[in-house]
Amino acid sequence: MTGEYTAVNIKERLESIYHKLPSGVKLVAVSKFQPVEKIQEAYNSGQRLFGESRVQELLEKIPVLPSDIEWHFIGHLQTNKVKSLIGRVSLIESVDSVKLLDVIEQESIKKGVKTDVLLQVHVASEETKFGFAPDELWALIENKILFSFNNIRIRGLMAMATNTNDLEKVKNDFALAAGLFSRIKNMGEKKLDFFNLLSMGMSGDWPLAVKEGANVIRVGSYIFGER
Ligand SMILES: *Cc1c(COP(=O)(O)O)cnc(C)c1O
Repeated sequence: MTGEYTAVNIKERLESIYHKLPSGVKLVAVSKFQPVEKIQEAYNSGQRLFGESRVQELLEKIPVLPSDIEWHFIGHLQTNKVKSLIGRVSLIESVDSVKLLDVIEQESIKKGVKTDVLLQVHVASEETKFGFAPDELWALIENKILFSFNNIRIRGLMAMATNTNDLEKVKNDFALAAGLFSRIKNMGEKKLDFFNLLSMGMSGDWPLAVKEGANVIRVGSYIFGER
């Protein structure tokens, strides 16, 4: 990269988020496309939870960074990459199809582990974002199609708001995901005993997400600088 580049102070950025973050809300430091030196710097400032969106990149970073880092996978996951991910991350936040759940179940059984996942729900007014449509997800839940897995724990929902400056629109997107989250949670379904995570909010919109009920936020560029 050339041109003007102002490095951010990672420690200060983390502190300023934690200063405002209500207790009980987890911060995932999104380190995709960031060099390991910057991740180490965040680690040295006390951050232990990081998010990556590409399997290959994550697998290269894991062995060269401290082993007590907790990783979340947050990117679109192809079924042929599931095998190498199982057992390496504490949460797959971006599950967006039943087929993917089937593969995660099979690979988790093979490895003898339980895999925690979030279901990604598409609430943004953009074609490009992955995820279940809210109606589709509700139907899958109501028909108990998602309750047949033994080695998967569905921990909650992940959502991204529309990429816009229209805060009312962003708020509505988050409210839609939050509404679906509580509707599912309140079913009292035995298979959803662990359903308690609502991951939404990024650098530009996380305070709004928290206001709408998020208890996991995923912040990248604000902490590490532009990618
Ligand atoms: C990149 C990414 C983020 C972080 O976005 P920033 O705007 O850099 O904070 C959060 N969630 C997902 C799914 C991402 O891919």
